[in-house]
Amino acid sequence: MPQPIYLDHNATTPLHPEVKRVVVEMLEVFGNPSSLHTFGREARERVDAARAKVAALVHARPEEVVFTGSGSEANNTVLSLLRCTKETCRCVLGSRRGLVTTAIEHPCVLETAKFLRRLGHPVTFLGVDRQGRIDLEALRAALTPEVGLVSIMTANNEIGTIQDILAAARLAHEVGALFHTDAVQAAGKIPVDVAAWEVDFLTLSAHKIYGPKGVGALVVRGNMPICPLILGGHQEAGRRAGTENTIGIVAMGEAARQRQLEMAAEAPRLAALRDGLRRGILENIPDVIVNGHPEHTLPGTLNVSFLGVEGEAILLYLDAVGIAVSTGSACASGSLEPSHVIMALGVPVEYAHGSIRISLGRETTEKDIERMLVELPPIIAKLRAISSAYRRKP
Ligand SMILES: *Cc1c(COP(=O)(O)O)cnc(C)c1O
Repeated sequence: MPQPIYLDHNATTPLHPEVKRVVVEMLEVFGNPSSLHTFGREARERVDAARAKVAALVHARPEEVVFTGSGSEANNTVLSLLRCTKETCRCVLGSRRGLVTTAIEHPCVLETAKFLRRLGHPVTFLGVDRQGRIDLEALRAALTPEVGLVSIMTANNEIGTIQDILAAARLAHEVGALFHTDAVQAAGKIPVDVAAWEVDFLTLSAHKIYGPKGVGALVVRGNMPICPLILGGHQEAGRRAGTENTIGIVAMGEAARQRQLEMAAEAPRLAALRDGLRRGILENIPDVIVNGHPEHTLPGTLNVSFLGVEGEAILLYLDAVGIAVSTGSACASGSLEPSHVIMALGVPVEYAHGSIRISLGRETTEKDIERMLVELPPIIAKLRAISSAYRRKP
């Protein structure tokens, strides 16, 4: 079989070769960054250098970057601030307990939001249009005086749709709410700027930008006091306890630096490959819906729904010929429900079940796309030939 082709970069990415080099180097740097001796100071210097690199990727100041154990942890940390009260801490949200978010967030935001709702917090899930964008008027209407936090992802992991973050942040600020964006998918793919976008909190994850798994960051603008989710240590300026994941953090710094070097040239290349793939699918396969926004979208993400087939079946048939794609979020696969994102778009259910996400990355080539376009049409035809759901359609 030819070399396997990885087209699932929104689930995770392989380590960048330079990141790999840094990881190997760091295996020898074992000092605890909190130690005052030479071993500790060397680790501290490397962590701080990484902090500056991660900050640079999103135009933050280094001291605004709080390293976490994942993007999920960063998202949990910021949403959990709504649980703070005047009695528990001097945290930023005060007595405003309400959350406004969207129906298409990553599960780590959605589930945290649902948990807050069970605790009695007022929570609004904004719907999206057919292209996956929120309605800013609906956001404005949801911004009651009790809303303390608005959390809207920059770019969606399943369909790639990008929201107007500056406009949303301004609406939140008009009523005195704070604004968070999950930029895990956007960072390193499109320019991200916490200052220009006027956001208060921003989430990053290393393994989506060719860094290692198990390390992320929460950017906290203006050094607002926040409550740690993990208690018990002064690390990260008291905002996240636990001895730092020095290897992971330094690797994330290098990953961020490489993204800054590569992103500008890579984005148009991936967009062209994605456009070619979309065209090839539409020309060679009938009864297809392309999900997402035609312009406000990530360069390398393509989500398509095929009438009358199961996305999981497509995934497995493609895997059998050495091509890795996804049915949506990696976290939702395993369940046979259509993805919450595809359903929120209003895709007809007989299409929604047949959705796959193809996400390209820095090592994707023209040849990979050509092979995908050779393999996919006969797989769809084969699955439809045995599908009662398809044959019933005219
Ligand atoms: C992957 C992802 C996360 C979670 O990040 P982890 O580091 O895997 O916990 C959060 N949000 C989005 C949009 C993601 O794609």
